[in-house]
Amino acid sequence: MARLAQTPGLTDVQQEILATVRDFVDKEIIPHAQTLEHADTYPSDIVAGMKEMGLFGLTIPEEYGGLGESLLTYALVVEQIARGWMSVSGVINTHFIVAHMIRHHGTDEQRRSLLPKMAAGHVRGSFSMSEPDLGSDVASIKTRAKADGDEYVIDGAKMWLTNGGSSNLLAVLVRTDEGAEKAHQNLTAFLVEKPEGFGEVLPGLIIPGKIDKMGYKGVDTTEAVFSGFRIGADKILGGASGKGFGQMMDGVEVGRVNVAARACGIAIRAFELAVEYAQQRRTFGKAIAEHQAIAFKLAEMATKVEAAHLMMVNAARLKDSGERNDVEAGMAKLIASEYCAEVTQESFRIHGGYGYSKEYEIERLMREAPFLLIGEGTSEIQKTIISRGLLREYKSRG
Ligand SMILES: Cc1cc2nc3c(=O)[nH]c(=O)nc-3n(C[C@H](O)[C@H](O)[C@H](O)COP(=O)(O)OP(=O)(O)OC[C@H]3O[C@@H](n4cnc5c(N)ncnc54)[C@H](O)[C@@H]3O)c2cc1C
Repeated sequence: MARLAQTPGLTDVQQEILATVRDFVDKEIIPHAQTLEHADTYPSDIVAGMKEMGLFGLTIPEEYGGLGESLLTYALVVEQIARGWMSVSGVINTHFIVAHMIRHHGTDEQRRSLLPKMAAGHVRGSFSMSEPDLGSDVASIKTRAKADGDEYVIDGAKMWLTNGGSSNLLAVLVRTDEGAEKAHQNLTAFLVEKPEGFGEVLPGLIIPGKIDKMGYKGVDTTEAVFSGFRIGADKILGGASGKGFGQMMDGVEVGRVNVAARACGIAIRAFELAVEYAQQRRTFGKAIAEHQAIAFKLAEMATKVEAAHLMMVNAARLKDSGERNDVEAGMAKLIASEYCAEVTQESFRIHGGYGYSKEYEIERLMREAPFLLIGEGTSEIQKTIISRGLLREYKSRG
C-alpha cells in the first residue's frame, strides 16, 4: 500500500523484514487464501515458508536462536500477514504469546529447553484460558489441578484453543487453590508438552476434533478435556503456583496489540479491494468511485485504517519501551476491531451483489472481521480495562 498505514522511524532491518513478508504475502498467501479457506485446509506450505523466514522466532532473543525483534516488528508483520489471510496470523499468534510468557515468566530451565525449539518452529505454542462456561470472567476458571507428591492431577474442560491440535506445547491456566482470598490468586499456568493431533494425545488429555467456525478457517480451534491428567510440578510456568493469572494477562496484553494488527491488516485489504472495484465498476455512465456517496465511503474507510494503524503502532512502541500498555493496547484493540468491522462492511456494500459471491475476497473478510470483536477480550471487556486504567490515572482529589 503506497500511502496508508505507513510507519515512520523503522530501522533498516525492520524495513527489510517487512518488505520480505509483504512479498511473501502477495506471492504465497493471497493467491491461495480463498481456496484453502473455503476447503478449511491447514496452510502447511505457507507455515513451512514462515518457518524458513524465521517468523516463529521473530521476537525470541538471539541467544535462544531467534531474531530478537520488537513487538512493533511483530505487529507490523502480523498486519501484513492478515492482509493476506487472517488464519495464517492465527497460526503464529498463540505461539508468539506462549514464547513471550516463557521468556518473561519461565524458569531458566524452561527458557533454555523450550525457546530454541520454539524459535526454529519445531515446538509450536497454543494457550488456553477459556472454558465452556467462561471467557471474559477468567478468574472463575473451574478446571482444577490437585497436588499429589511431585505431581499435579488436572481435571476439567477447556474451550476455544486456537492451534489446539496443531501445537505441541500448550500453556494452560487452571485453579490450584492456594488458599488466597482473591480468586485470581488461586490460578496457575502449566506448560503441557503434547504430541500434535486429535484424540487422546496423552493419557488423560483429549483434544477432540476442530470446532466448525463461521470464518477463520484453515487454522484449528479445539476443546481440550483433562481427566486425571498427571503433570510434574516442574512444568508450572516460572516454577511457583498461584501466579498464572498475571502471567496470562501479560501474554494477552501483547496479544491485544496483535489482534489490533490483524484488524488493521483486514481493513487495509478491504480498502484495497474497494478502491480497485470502485474504479472498475460503472453505473449511470461513470465509475462508481465518481459518485460522491462512494468516494466519501472510501475517504472514511481510509481514515479509519490510518487511525487504527497509528494507535496499534503507539501501543506496540509503548510496550517495547518497557512501559505498561494495558490502556493503550485496549484502546488499539477496541478501535481497530470496531473499525475493521465497519470498513469490511463498507467494502462489501461497494462490491454490490458480487460482494455476496464466494468468488470475491470480501466475503471472506466479512466472516473474519467479527472474530476480532471477540478474541483476546470483547469490546466490552476492552472498555472495562480502559476505563479502569483511566480512573486510576485521573483519580479525583475531591
Ligand atoms: C475463534 C476463536 C478462537 C479463540 N481462541 C482462544 C484461545 O486460543 N485461547 C483462549 O483461551 N480463548 C480463545 N477464545 C475465547 C475468547 O477469548 C472468548 O470467546 C472471549 O474472551 C469471550 O468470552 P465468551 O465467549 O465466554 O463470552 P462471555 O464472556 O460469555 O461474554 C458474552 C457477552 O457478554 C459480554 N460481557 C461479559 N462480561 C461483561 C461485563 N462484565 N460487562 C459487560 N459485558 C460483558 C461480552 O462482551 C459478550 O458480549 C477464542 C474464541 C474464538 C471465537
